[in-house]
This record gives sequence, C-alpha cells and structure tokens, in this order.
Amino acid sequence: MLQDELAAAVDAVVLASKLCTSVQESLIDEQTAIKKDRSPVTIADYGAQAITSHVLKGRFPDIPIVGEENAAALRENAEQRAMVVEQVNRYIDLSETQVLEAIDGCADEGGAQGRRWVLDPIDGTKGFLRKEQYAVALGLLEDGVPVLGVLGCPNLPSTAAPQNRGCLFSAVRGQGARQLDMAGGAARPIAVSDLTDVRQAACCESVESGHSAHDHQAQVKARLGIEAEPVRIDSQCKYGAVARGEASIYLRLPTSDTYREKIWDHAAGWAVVTEAGGRVTDVRGNDLDFSLGRTLDTNRGVIATNGSLHDEVLGAVRAVLEG
Ligand code: AMP
Ligand code: MG
Repeated sequence: MLQDELAAAVDAVVLASKLCTSVQESLIDEQTAIKKDRSPVTIADYGAQAITSHVLKGRFPDIPIVGEENAAALRENAEQRAMVVEQVNRYIDLSETQVLEAIDGCADEGGAQGRRWVLDPIDGTKGFLRKEQYAVALGLLEDGVPVLGVLGCPNLPSTAAPQNRGCLFSAVRGQGARQLDMAGGAARPIAVSDLTDVRQAACCESVESGHSAHDHQAQVKARLGIEAEPVRIDSQCKYGAVARGEASIYLRLPTSDTYREKIWDHAAGWAVVTEAGGRVTDVRGNDLDFSLGRTLDTNRGVIATNGSLHDEVLGAVRAVLEG
C-alpha cells in the first residue's frame, strides 16, 4: 500500500534536498549572513518546490499539491528566476516555463476529501540561512489525514551512520517509520523513546522565540521537574528527533492568539512521529485537524511526545497556559 507514492516522495525529497545543499554551499557566505540577505533561501525555496512538484506531477498527475510558495514574485524578477532555473538544471532538465509552471502547480487549497500532497520546500528558513537545521517536508493527506510523510533533513546526522551528514525520515500509515541515510543505503525502522520518567526527558523546541513561547516552555519544564536545557532545533527536524528517540518531547506553545499553524509545517512530521509510536496533539490535547484548508484552523500550538509522557506533559502545559 502506497509504495509507489512513497518511492516518488522519497525521490522528490532527495533531489530537492540536494538542491538546497548546493544552494547553501554556493550562495551563503559570511557576507550573506552579515547583510541578512534572504535571497539564497528564496532561490532554494523556489527550486525545491519546482523539483518536488515536477517529480510528483510526472508520477501522479491527478494528485493536487498544497505548496507554501507560488511563482508570482519570481515572474517579476528575472535575475532570481535565472538563478532558480540554473539550480534546478543541476538536477532536472527543465525550461524556465516548466520551472514556473511546476512552482505554480502547488496551489491546492486543502480540504477534507480526496488525496493531496502537502509540501514545505524549505521548513526552517532561518536555520537554512544559519547553515544549521532545516527540512524539506512532504506529506500525503487522504481525506484530511496524513497517510505518508517524508522529511529530508540535509544537515542532520543520521544515527545509523553518524559520520554522514544528512538523513531522511519516512512513514506510511500502518507501516511504521524509518530513517534513511541521504547518501543511500537501507531504510532502518525507528521508534520513539520508551521513557516513562518525565524528569529524564530531553525536550526540543524552536530556535526562534517568535515561533514558540520559550518562557512558557521553560515553565512547563520546571513543573515537570525537567532540569536539562532544551535542545533548540529549527524545522520539522524536531519531529525526526522525537521519532528516533533522541528527544521525548517537542513543545511548540503559541506566541499569539491569532497565529494559525500551517498544514505543511506539521503533516509530514505528524506522520513520522505517529508511525514511530509517538503522539501529537495541540496544547489543549485535541488531534490536529488537517482537513480544514491550508491552516490548522481549530488547533493552537503543537505538542509531540513519545506517547507515554503525553498526558503528563499536556497537564503541565494546561496548568501553565491557564495559570
Ligand atoms: P521552526 O523552525 O520550528 O521555528 O518553525 C518554522 C516555521 O514556523 C515556519 O515554517 C513558519 O511557517 C512557522 N511560523 C511562523 N510564524 C510562526 C508563529 N508565530 N508561530 C508558530 N509558527 C510560526
Ligand atoms: Mg515551514
């Protein structure tokens, strides 16, 4: 079940991850960081969406794609457009028109019926610019439920071969979660930690305090008796860390009442953690509802754990947020 979809998703994410790596290596230098120049991430973002979209449309022409980007701004910027096409052509031979069409082919609005891919071409743009962690995140929704997820994490060491930078997580509903080495090799099953003493739990959170409330997270940890510092990681690599048992808790507590989480920031990660035996809810303990369009409209924040610790963590989160 879903083996062709999984193979297409892995191929697409591997190619997109390679493009991101080459953009990171060739276009980001110290000057970029000093000038706070975001153009390298823009080029990689468009390039990764173009490649992923082209590969998926080639194999599954009838499955729509919800992608974070569209090509409107790129159509107005010839210099950037040429750079995106050049980067894409390192991996797939596409004309400028095909690149623009592939990017714009991801305009599905989401919904409760049928199948749709959900793509974040670069999740964790700030991490990408710092040359730290980021992910190419691709999920497949069936009637609003993620049934497949692939996370390409080009800068995350694989636990199977720690000398190799770059790993990929995959999950298919009912078939478990796996970790692959980006450089190739067998997919190995992964599982969440079996920790039951919450005080021992490693806890991860966003690097950016604008994306999740560091102060509330510190209070939750204090309530739970967790003394270790949080592990700050950009992007859905955090879901990978929980899925492979490296961390037992991922806290993403809301920074505002109005922000709505995006489905592409969680669909792939949800599938990977759930299939690895963990649990994912929002801060009130509700399941994430991916069926409502491009956002998780009825959810607030996200909590992912190894499952055993979930209720205890939820209790502490409620106490902090309501206190
Ligand atoms: P992370 O790398 O975990 O910090 O998450 C990066 C993602 O956070 C981006 O892809 C954005 O879609 C998302 N984001 C942006 N603003 C917010 C916010 N105020 N609260 C939660 N997530 C946000
Ligand atoms: Mg994102």
